[in-house]
Amino acid sequence: MGTTVSLTLIEPNDTVAQAVFDSIKLLEDKLTVNRLISEVMSINLAAGSHPVTVSSSVFSLIEQAQKVSLHFNSCFNFAIGPLVKLWKIGFNGQQVPPAKLIKQRLLLTDPNNIELDTNNRSVFLKKFGMEIDLGAIAKGYIADVAKLILHKYQVYQGIINLGGNVLTLGSPLTNENSYWHVGLKKPFATDDKLSGVIKVKNKSVVTSGIYERFFIQNNHLYHHILDPKTGYPLDNELDSVTVISNSSLEGDIYSTVFYGWGLDNSRKYLQKHQNLSAIFLLKNKTIALINPDNFVFQLIDTQYKIITD
Ligand code: AMP
Ligand code: MG
Repeated sequence: MGTTVSLTLIEPNDTVAQAVFDSIKLLEDKLTVNRLISEVMSINLAAGSHPVTVSSSVFSLIEQAQKVSLHFNSCFNFAIGPLVKLWKIGFNGQQVPPAKLIKQRLLLTDPNNIELDTNNRSVFLKKFGMEIDLGAIAKGYIADVAKLILHKYQVYQGIINLGGNVLTLGSPLTNENSYWHVGLKKPFATDDKLSGVIKVKNKSVVTSGIYERFFIQNNHLYHHILDPKTGYPLDNELDSVTVISNSSLEGDIYSTVFYGWGLDNSRKYLQKHQNLSAIFLLKNKTIALINPDNFVFQLIDTQYKIITD
């Protein structure tokens, strides 16, 4: 997944840790598009040619990714693969591609051209060159599966951290009022400085931002969340969005969706969905806390000004 995965347990337990890491590895092997062989790669390699039947977990994740891509009126688009592969942001060879190539690739990113057949659990990319990319959703899904494995072993306290996707189980102490502390990085800080600490129990904390995978060319910052309308990285007022939710899949979906919507549109949506909370870090050094009932926020970097809804 191109990140560090860590698991924190209260009691050391190698069997449980091994089971969690095995399940993560298994899912990564099915979902990755950064190697030649995986279930998602077999769909991509058959683009324009034939449908490919996949396992039920992969099919169900693709169904959800398609639903979000088609019905959310957001930048979220799981057919973005051809552009992700062209920009290579966060990988060797990252570069601003020629505008002409971006235009060509945009023609291969219409999620309506992805046909799902529920009966056969098959996925068909109708045009040659199309590619599914589940990068905006896979870590959330994998974190939720890891939590299920922990529950299977009767482990109800701990932290699963898939680089930016943090899923907390229960509270750290038997005391009901104890919280896990999740650091919120200060965007673009060269060391591991924090802008704040998010205190939660039994919640997922997922961040989408522009400061983890990016490069700078001619004084311009290019980051890894692409605008499916233009083919270039999304340009808005945000450095990052953190979503606090029950499931990590939900957090992963909404962190990307909210990043694309920006603060004002996301706030309208969140006002109608009180079970979701979000923290927006704006480039102008404002932190907006929306639906702050589900977490406690402690400001560390006093350069920031907090606004609350
Ligand atoms: P996240 O960090 O969850 O916001 O996901 C970012 C990752 O999702 C990128 O590294 C790409 O693999 C992929 N991606 C980039 N742009 C988009 C987009 N507009 N919609 C969906 N996935 C995207
Ligand atoms: Mg995401």
